[in-house]
Amino acid sequence: MINPFRYSNDNKRYHTLSYYNKSHGIAAYKAVLDAGFTCPNIDGTKGTGGCIFCSGGSGYFTAGPQMSIEEQLERELACIRHKHPPAKAIAYFQAHTNTYSETSRLRELYERALSVQGVCGLSIATRCDALEAETLDYLRELNTRTYLTVELGLQTIHDSTAEKINRCHTFSEFLQGYYELKRAGIRVCVHMINGLPGEDEEMMTESATQVGRLRPDAVKLQLLHVIRGTPLEQMYLRGEYTPLSLEDYINILVRQLEVLPPETVIERITGDGKAGELIAPLWSRDKLRVLGSIDKALAERDTWQGKYYSQ
Ligand code: SF4
Repeated sequence: MINPFRYSNDNKRYHTLSYYNKSHGIAAYKAVLDAGFTCPNIDGTKGTGGCIFCSGGSGYFTAGPQMSIEEQLERELACIRHKHPPAKAIAYFQAHTNTYSETSRLRELYERALSVQGVCGLSIATRCDALEAETLDYLRELNTRTYLTVELGLQTIHDSTAEKINRCHTFSEFLQGYYELKRAGIRVCVHMINGLPGEDEEMMTESATQVGRLRPDAVKLQLLHVIRGTPLEQMYLRGEYTPLSLEDYINILVRQLEVLPPETVIERITGDGKAGELIAPLWSRDKLRVLGSIDKALAERDTWQGKYYSQ
């Protein structure tokens, strides 16, 4: 069957990061880092306890802040070079809120990362309420001399859900941060989570529709994982939360892809839960099966990313 999706050179009917990188001459992989930040939703500035699914600020795969940025990058670069010898690294400040500090500290950390040989860009995960004017000025300047992406957590456009998950920011606050970054000319990847408590397929599709209208450079579509030690695990054990089934997840993803613009890069379409920490849904451990099921569903339904996108 001929693939009708234009941003693909294989069977994928969505705009993968690998296609984007190849077509832009980027031979680099993300090197995950934990620079020892905290989060305004943990330290009491916006909230305490964090989002109900948060365990260690999502930095599961980092070496941890006991290692310096340089040591963490060298370790990551060794793995990248082992698998893809000529490739470089994008230093991915992943754990917690990576713009939540004075600009002088951010400058020191980011510049140290960029000075490690083999690092060719930065990816910075953060929240919309941790973007001070001075930080935005610095990011604007940084963007003129390196390949920069800011990964901005949204998770849902529905404020009622945001309240349930103790997100401690609204959709309108997210939009403010998003537009500030876009005005600064910065590439933005929006993070969304499927399977949040109380959300149905229509609500998740509506989140994708509204995010699609922003025409983001990239999105990450993640599956909500129940991780050991989180408030979500307690809800799950009390029977107050039911994770998505694989079938439901595939249906939701297909509908979300259909309403996202074809140009938006899908940087992630499932999620990684650390082995031993993941409580549910356990089907998500078989990533190849999940990815294969998405491809199969798109082909069987003869649909693709952006088929029903409208501004
Ligand atoms: S914003 Fe991120 S780091 Fe902060 S509590 Fe939520 S998931 Fe954790």
